[in-house]
This record gives sequence, structure tokens and C-alpha cells, in this order.
Amino acid sequence: MGRWFHPYPPADAAHVGLSFGIFHSGLEIAEIELGIPRDDHRRQAFPVEIKTIEHVVGPAILLGQWFEVEAGLDQLQSRRKVKMRNIGATIASMILLAEILGLIFLGVVIALAALLVIAFTSRRAIIDGFEMAGVRVVKDGFVSLCFLQINDREVALIDAGIDSSGRAILAELSRRGLGREAVKAILLTHGHRDHIAAVNLFQNAQVMALAAEVDLVEGRAAGRGPLTRFLPVVPTRIKVTRALEDGEAVSIGNVPIRVFEVPGHTGGSAAFLANGVLILGDSADAARDGHLRCANWLFSDNAARNRTSLIRLGQRLSQEGIEVKALVFSHSGALPQGLTPLMKFAQRT
Ligand SMILES: [Zn+2]
Repeated sequence: MGRWFHPYPPADAAHVGLSFGIFHSGLEIAEIELGIPRDDHRRQAFPVEIKTIEHVVGPAILLGQWFEVEAGLDQLQSRRKVKMRNIGATIASMILLAEILGLIFLGVVIALAALLVIAFTSRRAIIDGFEMAGVRVVKDGFVSLCFLQINDREVALIDAGIDSSGRAILAELSRRGLGREAVKAILLTHGHRDHIAAVNLFQNAQVMALAAEVDLVEGRAAGRGPLTRFLPVVPTRIKVTRALEDGEAVSIGNVPIRVFEVPGHTGGSAAFLANGVLILGDSADAARDGHLRCANWLFSDNAARNRTSLIRLGQRLSQEGIEVKALVFSHSGALPQGLTPLMKFAQRT
């Protein structure tokens, strides 16, 4: 580590100036320049005392360190040595601190990126068009949503995808010979943006979510996960028209849908059981090898609570003798082995 300081007359003959460069590990990482109009300068007496340099340097020295420069006009013009006090050690320690903080930050970024890559690449791939018992998975980018046929001419959606133009949803409606007015209900597993984007396209639909999730859905509350807490809180213009309760059965068209709370990924995360298909949203994932996994903790409010919620859900379904044919997840492919993957998860945990 080293530093150098030298005065120089700037190229513009109308000015005199000082230039301080700081070298570290052979690289120039900062340079301070102070230009003084030559005419004004002649009228000023040196030594020049600079109490703060915030207004002449960049943010690297904005911590407000004070220093002094002693120089005479003749010295400046003849490039003699400028005496400086106090600044060298201060800047050097600030550089060291910045380096350490930079390395820590870089390490955190690399670790997060690695975790995300592992999480995304180890998932079972979403199968667009996977269908079981009238529940059809529609892929929308890296997320999926479900169509549920509730009678001949109407459908319900479980979640509304990441695309606010609703291209994938409209294409599926078109495939069925239906328009957007055919969507009678949208049940939201939770309020993260990648699950609610197209809700407002369907003005005929009732919008349903657990009561504990309404603020997040409508854009009045922030996420609390390690990453989601940094997302801005923005009104979504979505209005939840029916707040759901844990355990209730909602009849939509001819289809009863059972509602289960699974808090953890978000405070009001829900799972929905329709025709024996359990739709878990982001509360769980399927690994490539077919194992059920917890929600990704980076995007979850409370990973421990998510885990216990999943175990409790498995126990409830098992104890009540409710038939489950398949498990469906938002970011990974469905598991058609009934409740078994959830029960095995509980045994492993
Ligand atoms: Zn989510």
C-alpha cells in the first residue's frame, strides 16, 4: 500500500491547483483535485487550510476527516513538496476498511448467487399442461398457476402468475374456447408478486386469500424474508373480495375447495385442496429426485414455521383421512404420489 501527493499547475493557465493521488496495490483508486483560480489564488495567503474535503472529492472521503495542507504559492508553482498532515493514515485506514467491507459484500453476493442457482437447478421441472382431476398446471415463466374447471363454461384460478398481461392464462382460456369473463374466482396461495400479477385482468372474478395475507396481496405490507424484505411496498390495486379462514370449504361452481393455512413462506400462505389435488404454492417444492422440500428460505418470512406448517398439514390430512392424489407446487413439477412425499418429509424432518 502506498500513497503519493504532488502539486501541479493544471493545464489551464488560469488556475493553479493541487492533486493528491492515492495508490493502493499498484492501482490508482482515488484522486483529489483542487483547482483555484490563479488570480484569486495570488490574493490568498498560504498555508491553505482545508477543513473538509467533502466538496472536492468523491464519496470515498465523505466520512468527514479533517486535514490541512500547507503550501506557499511559490512552492505550488515550482512543484515543491506539499506538506500534508493527518490525511495519509486516515485515508489508508479508510481504504482498508472499504476493502474489507467490499470483500465481505462480494462474499455474501457470491454465496447468495450460488444458493439461488442450486435452488433453481435442483428443482423438478414444471410440466406445462400437467392435469389431474380437473386441475391443470399452466406454466408462466418460472412460476405456474392452476386452472380448475368449475362447470362447463367457467373456471377458477389458483394464483395468477408473474405476467401482468396474462398471456399464458389467456392462451389457456382461448384453448378452452373461453374469454376472460369465464374466470369466476382467483384463489391466491400468497401475495408474492410472481403469483398475483394478472389478477386485475379478470374483473368478473372473486379474489380470495387467507385473511392474514390480505395486506400483502393488496400491497400494504412488506415481505419479511431475507430477500423479500427489500422489495418495495407498492399498492397492487387488487381487492381481496373474500377473506378465507383455515379449514373452510369454499364452493366454487360445482367444486368444493378446502382451505388450509400453511404460514411460514408468508404469514398467510395457503394450500388448497380441489378434487384431491393439493396445491401448495411456494410453501413447498419438489426436488428432481421426487423428494418434497421446504420453501426456499431466502424468500420466506419464517423458514422454521414453514417446516412445522408442512408437518402439521400432513398430519391433518392424514388424520382426517382426506384423499390426496397429487401435490402441486408453483415453482416445480407436480408429484403424483398422493400424500406420501409430504409424510416422508415429516419423517425426515
Ligand atoms: Zn412466494
